[in-house]
Amino acid sequence: MSNRYAGSCLCGEVRFEIEGAFERFYLCHCEFCRKDTGSAHAANLFSSTAALKWSSGEHKVRQFNLPATRHSKCFCSVCGSALPMMQMEGKLLVVPAGSLNSEIHIRPDAHIFVSSKASWDDALDEVPAVARFPS
Ligand SMILES: [Zn+2]
Ligand SMILES: [Zn+2]
Repeated sequence: MSNRYAGSCLCGEVRFEIEGAFERFYLCHCEFCRKDTGSAHAANLFSSTAALKWSSGEHKVRQFNLPATRHSKCFCSVCGSALPMMQMEGKLLVVPAGSLNSEIHIRPDAHIFVSSKASWDDALDEVPAVARFPS
């Protein structure tokens, strides 16, 4: 089954399209993903077969490779939003789920690196959920 997905950064300078299927969807709680997202975990889709095409702003895309690790991040140099990247010498496409504008119809497969999760990242289902900013 082949699918098309569209995505963009927050400022809209960078736009991309992905054609193909995702094989894995992981929520990574490792210390690198917590730093680079500023959040509890990254939410990344993985595909070894899908194709990534930049539709605009490719020259605004920057990649940061954390020295002495395999951790990388692609981001918009204008607004800092996370963007897709090729890893493992172009064999693996990694797509931050939040960068997509299209709906995806797969659920996360797993929380990973939970041994590294933040101390406050615990029983979050029990935290009150408010539809908008709390009054
Ligand atoms: Zn941007
Ligand atoms: Zn991670």
